[in-house]
Amino acid sequence: MHDKDEMVEDLHDHSVAAVRIKTHPGLCAGWGNCHRFAPDLYPLDADGHVAIHLMEAPGERADDARLGALACPAGAITVITSIVGHTG
Ligand code: SF4
Repeated sequence: MHDKDEMVEDLHDHSVAAVRIKTHPGLCAGWGNCHRFAPDLYPLDADGHVAIHLMEAPGERADDARLGALACPAGAITVITSIVGHTG
């Protein structure tokens, strides 16, 4: 049985090809936490709400994307990664 930390650790053993970030504007409450962790992945609009709906980023940004999503108190961010295999 894997707990969440082990699953995240497992992901580090693989090469993440790409990361897709999806936000849910209806849930965003404008906390801005996502922006604090990754300002370029999570730009904010003039009202302080996340200003993207869907973004693709290179795999090396997966950790930044996940940090932003985990920091969101509203659960308004979903991060999907594509895993292509072991790095070594
Ligand atoms: S942390 Fe969540 S609630 Fe706050 S701006 Fe980002 S998406 Fe919106």
